[in-house]
Amino acid sequence: MSTPILSERPPLSSAPSRPPGISEVPPETLAAWFVARGEPAYRARQVLDAIWRSTVVDPSAITTLTAATRSALAVAFRWDTIAATELTASDGGRTEKALHRLDDGVAIESVLMHYPAGPGRRERNTLCISSQAGCAVGCPFCATGELGFGRDLATAEILDQVRSAIHRLSVNGRHLTNIVFMGMGEPLLNLDRVLEAVAALNDPARLGLGARHITISTSGVVPGIARLTALGPQFTLAVSLHAARDSLRDVLVPLNRRWPVAEVAAAARAHADATGRRVSYEVTMIGGVNDTDLDADAIAALLRGSLAHVNLIPMNPVAHTPWVASPMPVIERFAERLRSAGIPVSVRRNRGQEVGAACGQLAAERAGAPSAPAVALRRERLVAASVAALRGERSREAVPTGIDA
Ligand code: SAH
Ligand code: SF4
Repeated sequence: MSTPILSERPPLSSAPSRPPGISEVPPETLAAWFVARGEPAYRARQVLDAIWRSTVVDPSAITTLTAATRSALAVAFRWDTIAATELTASDGGRTEKALHRLDDGVAIESVLMHYPAGPGRRERNTLCISSQAGCAVGCPFCATGELGFGRDLATAEILDQVRSAIHRLSVNGRHLTNIVFMGMGEPLLNLDRVLEAVAALNDPARLGLGARHITISTSGVVPGIARLTALGPQFTLAVSLHAARDSLRDVLVPLNRRWPVAEVAAAARAHADATGRRVSYEVTMIGGVNDTDLDADAIAALLRGSLAHVNLIPMNPVAHTPWVASPMPVIERFAERLRSAGIPVSVRRNRGQEVGAACGQLAAERAGAPSAPAVALRRERLVAASVAALRGERSREAVPTGIDA
């Protein structure tokens, strides 16, 4: 079977109308549901506790409710929007990748990372979640980008990835400490649902995770960044920068043709100024493509004077690209150049590379291999585009379809 790999957008799968997933139902709606049945509003609280603070797998286990109420709940709402989860562990059990199959058969991924406590450092358990199945942006080094766009996730589908992780953590007596929207999809292109999910994660009556422990990563959807800024809560914003020169960023992050890097940086700077929080800028280091001194200097010039932190991440090997990670000494040199320009930098070593922890890799594998000529054509185009970009030529390709914010 051949799969489209050049940002072709498959038709939107229209999920048949089903009851809402219970995790996305706001507490006041749940309370109103009980009141409409002639029951006290506080019953909603018992359900919320069962959703967020227990491992019950369906409402029949909520023994504080009558049998009739339990069956009515099971009809009105779906207890879990995830039909099946396949787990793969790596790093001696410290990284766990989950491939979730949703009700309509769509596959998405989440990754749970455990960082043990150290001297002066508390244990952290960070979950990386997906906001969309596939992605319309089509960054060529990203397995999700290669898959193309499938569909937006419903709020409950975002939240149920978190519930799945909480249940697995609780087996080891662990707690979730951080959530990052760095899985499949562009969160700011599904922003209404992402904001609903974030409100639930933040709400003390539901997960109750502090806003500062939630990171939203974007490839640069400028109106979405502005909306986050206007909203005010102090979520951490991460910007997938990858390059500060438009010619190169047009190739690496095709969304750049719509919102050029200077506009992205201005929106992110406004966010940092409004929230007083440092924005983190991610740079996936690709050997011979975006790791030159010229690129380090362009990033330094772009970010000078703003509340910023740069993360350099060696590119995870992804099938069907002509590229590999920059060698470590090159990354160290790049980091040093940024540091000497006064920009705070960390170099991240990849976690869970063996299980393809750059989200989308497992799902891409399951989607089946594209035909050999399609792969060859894609590689050829990427090499030509990156060589032209290195010469400073702007891409003449159109903005990917499906980018409407
Ligand atoms: N769409 C959003 C969030 C999901 S991608 C965004 O792009 O920010 C999360 C991060 O994974 C991004 O910074 C992305 O650039 C990075 N990433 C994707 N593929 C990668 C790969 N092969 N190696 C290393 N990082 C990768
Ligand atoms: Fe989409 Fe982010 Fe992957 Fe780019 S890196 S294709 S924006 S998921």
